[in-house]
Amino acid sequence: MKYLKRSAPPATAVDVSAIVHGVIADIRKNGDAAVRRYSDKFDQWSPASFRLSRAEIDAAIAACPAQTIEDIKTVQRNVRLFAEQQRESITDFEYEIQPGVFLGQRNLPIQRVGAYIPGGRYPLLASAHMTILTAKTAGVPHVVGCTPPMAGDIPNATVAAMALAGADEIYLLGGVQAIAAMALGTESMAKVDFLAGPGNAFVAEAKRQLFGEVGIDLFAGPTEILIVADETADPFTVATDLLSQAEHGPDTPAVLITTSPSVGRETICRVQELLQRDLSTAELSQTSWERFGEVVVVENDDKDVLDTDDGNHGLVDAAYAVADTYASEHVQILTADPRRALAKMTAYGALFLGARTCVSYGDKVIGTNHVLPTKKAARYTGGLWVGKFLRTLTYQEVRDDRASGELGRLCGRAARVEKFEGHARSGDIRAHKYLGDELGW
Ligand code: NAD
Repeated sequence: MKYLKRSAPPATAVDVSAIVHGVIADIRKNGDAAVRRYSDKFDQWSPASFRLSRAEIDAAIAACPAQTIEDIKTVQRNVRLFAEQQRESITDFEYEIQPGVFLGQRNLPIQRVGAYIPGGRYPLLASAHMTILTAKTAGVPHVVGCTPPMAGDIPNATVAAMALAGADEIYLLGGVQAIAAMALGTESMAKVDFLAGPGNAFVAEAKRQLFGEVGIDLFAGPTEILIVADETADPFTVATDLLSQAEHGPDTPAVLITTSPSVGRETICRVQELLQRDLSTAELSQTSWERFGEVVVVENDDKDVLDTDDGNHGLVDAAYAVADTYASEHVQILTADPRRALAKMTAYGALFLGARTCVSYGDKVIGTNHVLPTKKAARYTGGLWVGKFLRTLTYQEVRDDRASGELGRLCGRAARVEKFEGHARSGDIRAHKYLGDELGW
């Protein structure tokens, strides 16, 4: 493996964890007053009420161009249809595990969800479809949505998307103060059971610290992109797609893993060229690319460690294996046989197969959920989906006397191995009642 470009993160980093800890502790103690103080401090935002009234929501919708509203509805249709397919894949069942013994499961929606829609840098209205609409498709009866103000004003399109997605309450409140207020509750906001949605490092850390007191969907922090490309890939497309994510913030890993040194080299040139081409977000993208951009060439030596006898695919398969070690949020496949990545790769938030699709489609329009695991969380979770808003609850019923008595004998023995005498006796009395066993106590 050879690096044509390595990442170079800044040496000093802000202590995000300590800042978040302080804000949460203050809000826990001082409720609304602390929420207002931090909103004023971080967002220069202290309105009479953070919650938008019906009239303000209607005004935000009315202020959007008709095309924007139509587009929001089109995208929400895609998100809803995909989420409905996911809901159908989750089933309740009851199973007779042995004669007279019935075990079952039901999937019930969480009752109160808090959805965070990022908006510090850009009005990320697509996150409203991904969080609120998906929760509603799962059957969540009450969804609270929070999004930051945009430079001290109402982000009309985001509010419209939140309302059209079905939010029951909408607050203009951002960052840790929004996450903590939803999770802990304040005088003016009832607490939720579960938090969903992406955000910057502060938002993701706040969710992580509050997990346990409240459920969370996943660790969905600053975005990441990784592209696997072979010699068939077009470096102009590769560079354009890497920069499509680099503009998210100054902390976006944008990685190319390629089997072709010339695609690697040319992509680096194309990135520099594109940054000069009237890109309004060039400054941010450039910072991100300098700090977290990587170009890796997979070589024949890497193929050997794979132990593959498939000569045609060996090098590309090695590239997939390297890509898996990143467990990146978005993985785009620009190879001659992109579907092969489905069989070969196991660690990614979402996979984008072939040059006709791209991460931006997933982010904005195509219908799969864009709230995805970052910082290698893809090793243990997928992205946000309908199932995250459901609780899989089990139940059991023994309908037969003999079955209950036999389970009682088994339970008595099993519990005593663990030294649980109390548990054992619950089994004993049923073995006594239904099978006539002597009570030895
Ligand atoms: P944001 O809404 O996540 O964060 C803005 C808030 O951060 C502000 O309201 C402010 O209160 C708070 N903040 C800013 N500086 C702070 C500081 N120094 N201390 C404490 N709080 C501070 O919006 P954003 O900043 O634009 O970030 C959005 C993020 O969401 C990006 O990093 C993007 O990559 C990420 N994202 C991730 C996914 C995913 O699924 N993983 C999806 C979409 C977006």
